[in-house]
Amino acid sequence: MLYKRSSALFAEAEKVIPGGVNSPVRAFKAVGGTPIFVKKAKGTYLYDEDDNRLIDYIASWGPMILGHAYEPVVKAVKERAESGTSFGIPTALETEIAKLAVQMVPGIDKIRFVNSGTEACMSAVRLARGYTGKEKIIKFSGCYHGHSDAFLIQAGSGAVTFGSPNSPGVTKGTAKDTLLAPYNDLDAVKELIKANPGEIAAIIIEPVAGNMGCVLPNPGFLEGLREACDLHGILLIFDEVMTGFRLARGGAQELLGVKADIVTFGKVIGGGLPVGAFAANSEIMSHLAPDGPVYQAGTLSGNPLAMAAGMAMLKELNERPDVFKSLEEKTAYLHKGLLKVLNDSGKVFCINRIGSMISVHFTEEVFDFESAAKGNNETFKMFFHGMLKEGVYLPPSAFESWFLNDALSYEDLDHTINAANKVLRGL
Ligand SMILES: *Cc1c(COP(=O)(O)O)cnc(C)c1O
Repeated sequence: MLYKRSSALFAEAEKVIPGGVNSPVRAFKAVGGTPIFVKKAKGTYLYDEDDNRLIDYIASWGPMILGHAYEPVVKAVKERAESGTSFGIPTALETEIAKLAVQMVPGIDKIRFVNSGTEACMSAVRLARGYTGKEKIIKFSGCYHGHSDAFLIQAGSGAVTFGSPNSPGVTKGTAKDTLLAPYNDLDAVKELIKANPGEIAAIIIEPVAGNMGCVLPNPGFLEGLREACDLHGILLIFDEVMTGFRLARGGAQELLGVKADIVTFGKVIGGGLPVGAFAANSEIMSHLAPDGPVYQAGTLSGNPLAMAAGMAMLKELNERPDVFKSLEEKTAYLHKGLLKVLNDSGKVFCINRIGSMISVHFTEEVFDFESAAKGNNETFKMFFHGMLKEGVYLPPSAFESWFLNDALSYEDLDHTINAANKVLRGL
């Protein structure tokens, strides 16, 4: 495959955009080479500027769970655009999507819409602090909750890829209020709680981590966090920006059967437009402005175009719960195929999977950030570029989960497995 136009476009972009990209992980720094530029996409296929067709395994990092340019979403956006794209005044649509989200997700009464997952997590922590009157939070190494200051402490994916787990520009004052524990290590969490008595407002976690590859919570881990939170008056925040409306209608809470106090959303909830949200019961949400003193706002929050896209997406997922089964079956099929191919290749590897999230790590097992970091990055790089040549677009970093979309056909999956076989035999 040729990437002539993409390379030229990247060179142009670098002149006027830092690193040529508007989000670091797009830059291919972790895998080398220059990024491809997308011209258009339909279903599971990306078409780049050099007219290569690629099978997409990132789905815009999650949102395009039903495939690109999904008809009901496109139609909703087109129709909505004709009537104006932003007012800064309430619309009926905001209540409609809020009602639907509250109905789909366990344990929430009210939801506030924002413009990104970053905003959602940042606001959720502010709300937790305002509600509890406490200042510290516990997060887990390798979990990503967006790029707000409090979270850029061992933050996974992009931040790890670029070797700046503690980004310059984050003050010591901010960093000291973020306590770190290894994922899946309940004892470490209990130690932190003991060492900071009465000071912890919230524990924030990806209930299934998707930003150090896909990492599953060990049995009992989330339940243990729930128990510790209840015991010590700490709020449990599930960052479901990735897992919400992806692992099940009600996200990881539904699939794993553990309830959070505050849940954050992004990605799928916007149907491909910039949307984030955070939600909780009425009592907690009553602390949020204008009902309560915890301030949070947004000129474009609840934007009609974004709400129309999100509504069309959630409606589909709500009315077709078979989608989650179909996604799970496709991902299991891919898992099985890759398992055979990787076994035959003689490489050291492990595959982590749940629902429509899957990742291949070139190391024995991955259950937290430290074990994920042991993956052989040279092998991953060659695997990534080999797959790209075969027309398969994987996330350009070993620290990212693959996100399947329901437009993938079994022929696409077979192509992917065969490509992996070819590539791995050549390594
Ligand atoms: C993507 C992501 C975020 C950040 O969302 P943005 O919309 O990129 O700001 C937060 N948390 C998790 C778990 C994510 O995957």
